[in-house]
Amino acid sequence: MSLRAYEFSWDIIGDIREGRPNLGDKVHIVLYRLMQYTFRDIAEQRYGKEICDSLFYDAGYLAGKFFFEQYMKEFKDLPLNGFVAELQRVLKDLGVGILRIEKANSEAGKFVVTVSEDLDCSGLPDLGIEVCNYDEGFISGIFEKFTGKVFNVKEVDCWCTGDRTCRFEVNQTVSAISNVEQPDDNFLKTATTIPQQSQNDEFVSQPNSKSLTFVNPDSQPVQTDVFIQQLNDEFSKITMSLSELTQTTDEELFQQTNDYFLGIGEDFLLID
Ligand SMILES: [Zn+2]
Repeated sequence: MSLRAYEFSWDIIGDIREGRPNLGDKVHIVLYRLMQYTFRDIAEQRYGKEICDSLFYDAGYLAGKFFFEQYMKEFKDLPLNGFVAELQRVLKDLGVGILRIEKANSEAGKFVVTVSEDLDCSGLPDLGIEVCNYDEGFISGIFEKFTGKVFNVKEVDCWCTGDRTCRFEVNQTVSAISNVEQPDDNFLKTATTIPQQSQNDEFVSQPNSKSLTFVNPDSQPVQTDVFIQQLNDEFSKITMSLSELTQTTDEELFQQTNDYFLGIGEDFLLID
């Protein structure tokens, strides 16, 4: 039996035709926004703005990957232009927004993407902050699925900052710790050594047990898949943070990366 109640799959969306024979698959956008912004209100009160925003980013990222599988997989071998044309069509048909690629440098892994008439924010009052964290994650998930690379996405203009289109900078992240999403056996072996050395460890492995067992600080066993999920979440955060490094030379990147890893504990130092 699954440990999770809400692990996403398309099945959880349900059979809409059977479930809503009279009302169908449409709902007023006001209700979509009502749900989103009440959820934001509660999440901010409970966890603060930063975690609230990261919840939306992460959920959007998950959605982007599932969306790709469901709607875009058949176009994955197209060149970028062809893929984007199909993506524009699908997003418009579904009423998500009107997507454009403003700048593209595939070699450098840098793109600027705009979304007009955006589902989440177009028409909202000027709040002085970008609010499309879900879109950020969504775009990141789609780009990752299409290219096989990991991207950090940051909204730089939004209806809520007084602009009339949402603009996103899409940057490929440092490749040293990409592919954190799907742990393989080697990742698992590596993972066992990290918690032992971590200073503020949440998890400690029991290296002498025959099968791999993880325990929490109260010595309660933790299911391996739960442990791996949490470890992956941590690595995802690190990957995102690394993408914010502002190096202009290799030396500066080296220095910033070292500083970053020292800041979170030397055990994570990847470069010596
Ligand atoms: Zn926006």
